[in-house]
Amino acid sequence: MRNRHRLLHICFVFYQLIIFSSPAKSDDSIIERFRAYLQIDTSQPNPDYTNASKFILAQAEALSLESQTLEFAKNKPLILLKWPGSNPQLPSILLNSHTDVVPSEPSKWSHHPFGAHLDSQGNIFARGSQDMKCVGMQYLEAIRRLKASGFQPVRSVYLSFVPDEEIGGHDGAEKFADSHVFNSLNVGIVLDEGLASTTEDYRAFYAERCPWWLVIKARGAPGHGAKLYDNSAMENLFKSIESVRRFRASQFDLVKAGLKAEGEVVSVNMAFLKAGTPSPNGFVMNLQPSEAEAGFDIRVPPTTDAESLERRIVEEWAPASRNMTFEVVINSLSLLHTNPKRMLFWVFPSIYDDTA
Ligand SMILES: [Zn+2]
Repeated sequence: MRNRHRLLHICFVFYQLIIFSSPAKSDDSIIERFRAYLQIDTSQPNPDYTNASKFILAQAEALSLESQTLEFAKNKPLILLKWPGSNPQLPSILLNSHTDVVPSEPSKWSHHPFGAHLDSQGNIFARGSQDMKCVGMQYLEAIRRLKASGFQPVRSVYLSFVPDEEIGGHDGAEKFADSHVFNSLNVGIVLDEGLASTTEDYRAFYAERCPWWLVIKARGAPGHGAKLYDNSAMENLFKSIESVRRFRASQFDLVKAGLKAEGEVVSVNMAFLKAGTPSPNGFVMNLQPSEAEAGFDIRVPPTTDAESLERRIVEEWAPASRNMTFEVVINSLSLLHTNPKRMLFWVFPSIYDDTA
């Protein structure tokens, strides 16, 4: 625990150095480097990792940082930079950021999402400016200032620029974390993305809600559209959707009443509805389909009683008594529940341990 505190302290000292180490003079070259990074279209599903890597490696060279390019999956480079510490025996500091960004619809932007337009107020318009190219550049600019001031780190500082975060990170951070290279870094603390700040205040977060992606599926006898009968797939699915909706409202009410922060409640949002029998003109209207499903993006705070949420899914949202099944994907692990049993809690026990 003491070690952890020491590392946290180091981390804050590092941030203070970032913020206060040099006079606050405006430096156009910082903005220009940031804009150059933003102008590289690294949006999914076809991110330009080649030019992003070239850019980062050029920055590393200018800063005399050691660099290596790791490719855990073809054409998905992960750039690892190193600023060696004076005592390499100590656990290191890893500063992580992802190079890819989410897609954009250029026609709905006032300025092109990869133009990095700078307006007269100093605003920069670009996809990825907050999530999270600004952070990657802040790491580099902080090192630039620290080096200029003569600072020499005691611990080694690593920077990882990882691909594919926006599509799950399987070929990026996930493979990196499992690699021998990562083990050899002896990482003591990792700083990663949080919320962008428009002021000089930076909030530190130590946990994140865990995504549970839930798909519930109802099956029932098909029947004529004019007939009223029990246990149709649509009817059973709608009972579940109604139940999910009530739970969502109860969580949202806590936020609206000011009793809980947004990050402290379980959020549930419906992501898709899939049902109906296609016809040449759309859907068959006089037939009740035999299958219907819905998908939900659920975000679970580390303080949530995961067992009770799991019970709610099994008993209320996808009960076998209504002929329903469900699948939950948690951090890329897919668990198919055709025979509902307690299966979720053990998946990430460490998440729940953190609540103490
Ligand atoms: Zn991000």
